[in-house]
Amino acid sequence: MGKVEILQESCKACGYCVKFCPRDVLALGKEVNAKGYLYVVAEKAEECIGCAMCAQMCPEAAIEVWR
Ligand code: SF4
Ligand code: SF4
Repeated sequence: MGKVEILQESCKACGYCVKFCPRDVLALGKEVNAKGYLYVVAEKAEECIGCAMCAQMCPEAAIEVWR
């Protein structure tokens, strides 16, 4: 079990985390942050295994993971 949190104001919607999450937890959201990006949300948060792949891929350091 893991817990993932997106720092929504840091996300630039590149989609790397969405692509590399092995559990399909993350998705581009429908709301924009202050910079105008459709930031990522943890749509299936309960599926997160805490592998931290998403956090490693994120070029903006916009993801925090606990396990
Ligand atoms: S920690 Fe792993 S399972 Fe959880 S959202 Fe990130 S990539 Fe997906
Ligand atoms: S990798 Fe980081 S910047 Fe890119 S979409 Fe995911 S959270 Fe946003």
